Formats: sequence, structure tokens, C-alpha cells
Amino acid sequence: MYDIGIREIEIPDRIVETDHITYLAHSIKHPYKCRNCGKRKYLVPHGGYNKNLQDIKRDGKQVYIQLRINRYRCSSCNKTSSDIDRLTFFKKRSKLTNRLKEEIAYEIISGKTFYEIANVYDIEHDTVKAIMESYAKEHKKCFDYKGTPEILGISDVCIGGHSRLVLADLKKKTPYRY
Ligand SMILES: [Zn+2]
Repeated sequence: MYDIGIREIEIPDRIVETDHITYLAHSIKHPYKCRNCGKRKYLVPHGGYNKNLQDIKRDGKQVYIQLRINRYRCSSCNKTSSDIDRLTFFKKRSKLTNRLKEEIAYEIISGKTFYEIANVYDIEHDTVKAIMESYAKEHKKCFDYKGTPEILGISDVCIGGHSRLVLADLKKKTPYRY
């Protein structure tokens, strides 16, 4: 078993390549009741699928988690539930773990460009942008002190082949300097 510090999964195996590691994992958390009708004891195994997630780097290599998700069918209401209902280390539709997103948001705040970050993590430029936008939304209070724009616009422009973060006061329609 491998331990990468995520308590919700078990990792019996991994594949190490020159530039990345893939951990083959499964959830140790399973639904204990139907997410539709809420009844217990009616869930029967109903196949499953693999979800690929990217996680924080390890030993300088990109890290991916191939996570086996089990599905269950409720024999009372016929709807399906899955392990994913109980997992909290990533958002349901995301391909990145929460801790990777936090690390990326921190890199942006520390001044790295979207372009650099996209390269370092081998992810789409738009993904970096989306992470910053949702981080700014979640931490609205931190950005809300006196003197900051009421509505902060976050974008980037390409200067000399590098992306630069641009902040704008959308209400006053002026660039915002911090
Ligand atoms: Zn049910």
C-alpha cells in the first residue's frame, strides 16, 4: 500500500514513468444509504468506472490518481449511488484534487504567471484561470478590505510571450493596482 496522505483512498499499486507517477487507487468510503430515497440496506453493487485525477507533484514528477469508483443500485427506488458521494478530496466534476487547486492558487498569489503554472503542472491555461476565479470567489472576504474594487475582474494579457495577471475594477471600469 502507498500513502500519499489522502485518508479516503487506498493505493495498492502505482506505475512510475520518467516524468509522472500514476497511483491506482480505490475509495475506502462507500455510500451507506441511497442518495435518492435515503434507505439503508438496499444498495447492491452495480459496476463502476475509473476517474482520473491530477494531484500535487511528488519527487519532481506529475502525480495522477486513477481512482476506481464503485456504483450501487438501490433495490428499493432503482436509482444509483456511488463512492463519489462520500469523497471530499476533490470536487465531483473536477479533474484536479482540492489540494492541487490550493497549491496552484497559492502559486498565482505568489506572483507566478498563468503561463508558467500551466507549464509546470502540464494543465490548460483556462484551468489555471478557472482555479483563480473560484479561489477569489471563495475567499471574497480576504479581497474585500477597504480600497479594493467592489467587483474585481481577473484576466490575463500576453506581453512578450508571457501571460500577465490583470486585475480590474469592473464597476469603475479601470485597471486595479495593488
Ligand atoms: Zn433508493
